[in-house]
Amino acid sequence: MHTANRSRHDVVVVGARVAGSATAMLLARLGHDVAVVDQASFPSDTVSTHSIARSGVVQLHRWGLLDEVLDSGAPAIRQVTFNAGGESVRRTIKHKAGVDLVVAPRRYVLDTILATAAQRAGAQVRPGVTVTGVRRDGRGRVVGVDGHDGAGAPVELGARWVVGADGLRSRVARSVGAAINELGPAGGAAQYAYYAGVPWDGIEFFVAARSFAGVFPTHDGQACIWVCTPAADAGAVRRGAGSRVEAFGELLERSAPKLAERLRQARRTSPVLGVLRQPNQLRQAFGPGWALVGDAGYYRDAVTAYGISDAFRDAELLAVALDQALRADAEEAAALARYERQRDQALREVFEITCRLSAYPPVPTFVELQKQLGGAIDEEAAALAARPVPGERRLATA
Ligand SMILES: Cc1cc2nc3c(=O)[nH]c(=O)nc-3n(C[C@H](O)[C@H](O)[C@H](O)COP(=O)(O)OP(=O)(O)OC[C@H]3O[C@@H](n4cnc5c(N)ncnc54)[C@H](O)[C@@H]3O)c2cc1C
Repeated sequence: MHTANRSRHDVVVVGARVAGSATAMLLARLGHDVAVVDQASFPSDTVSTHSIARSGVVQLHRWGLLDEVLDSGAPAIRQVTFNAGGESVRRTIKHKAGVDLVVAPRRYVLDTILATAAQRAGAQVRPGVTVTGVRRDGRGRVVGVDGHDGAGAPVELGARWVVGADGLRSRVARSVGAAINELGPAGGAAQYAYYAGVPWDGIEFFVAARSFAGVFPTHDGQACIWVCTPAADAGAVRRGAGSRVEAFGELLERSAPKLAERLRQARRTSPVLGVLRQPNQLRQAFGPGWALVGDAGYYRDAVTAYGISDAFRDAELLAVALDQALRADAEEAAALARYERQRDQALREVFEITCRLSAYPPVPTFVELQKQLGGAIDEEAAALAARPVPGERRLATA
């Protein structure tokens, strides 16, 4: 039976943001029947700042979406200024791996561009559908999902593969009992707000004792101003302050007094958002009939601002593995095991750097780790740029 609320697909993806829509888009470009559902509707925001590292920009470029992101009004960022220990170093972003800029589009813009690209590629995108659990066959293999639409009507989607791209608190991961294979040290807090009314000159970073703050210029002349600290520090400041806004101002004053001074001339255009505590963790990536991608499978503290790039890399690794499994080009367990192995190898260096950064070591060590992070990102960008683009030929002839 194939009705709006009951249908069958090669792949059902749960979660339609950076991980889910990218996976669905690539699978649809590879010729598969894909449905991607999300309890949210688009455009809508999510709690996240949104600087995309060079490796993530390389993915947007390879997938033919970078121009759309820039055309949305997200400014091309070509300067990065790093402030630490009283010194300020300003660099121009070099032309490497095919890109000479980074970008920080608002998530309601980026996620909508990706969901629309998935739809354009032929995926069925279904906003307003909440998944409540997975369906299994008699042998325990996952063969679909159950849920309901916005009106509360039941939804039943059958699939050869179910992909959980439903974020840190993934319902799919819980339903299949995905194990946490690695639990790093607990991460910290990341808080942010948007400001307008003053000029921004590229990305800025400010390192101070037990804090990391910065500026990500975004749409409409606004910038995302953020501050990352240990969870205990954010909690203590919040308890002593009259409001979240006051606590944010106090943290910024401690972390980046020169930035706090400049912001006195600016206008805050949003409430203060963020998270007070984050894990560093790696989940099992697949099992019979299911796989996880994005934050559902791997979460790291936002201090490295790398989750979007992780999601884009792993979406492609997973789409390639599922394509092989669906076409029976490879035995499915071997294809998915390769996905898990490639994901775990690819994320390793940045994961370890993130775990160390989120413990807020002394400033010189923090700065050294940031340099290592830059090297790891450039290496990953070069490796991604050298890969064939999944579904490119089909896209070119469409
Ligand atoms: C404060 C903060 C700042 C950050 N800053 C950056 C940054 O600057 N750069 C960067 O690269 N990364 C950053 N990150 C990380 C980044 O936000 C995440 O890694 C990224 O959003 C992961 O994308 P995802 O698609 O895996 O999951 P999500 O973005 O969490 O999307 C999951 C989707 O699944 C849907 N969903 C969940 N459950 C269900 C269900 N049961 N049924 C249907 N749908 C469901 C949700 O509605 C949601 O739309 C930051 C994170 C935080 C918290």
